[in-house]
Amino acid sequence: MTDYSSPQIPALRRSWVICPYCKAKFALHDNKAECRGVFVKCTRGCGKEFEIIIVNGKQKR
Ligand SMILES: [Zn+2]
Repeated sequence: MTDYSSPQIPALRRSWVICPYCKAKFALHDNKAECRGVFVKCTRGCGKEFEIIIVNGKQKR
């Protein structure tokens, strides 16, 4: 169970890594993530290969 009533704001917020071709949700990253040069294959949608680029916790497409 997670206590959302805490006055402390969580340091990390999660967002989806989304396939740039078909917009399928692929993975989760937090708001401090940095990522590039990671190539994955979309397994939940189109099956195409794409690079995961995350700068300052935001995915670039
Ligand atoms: Zn896809």
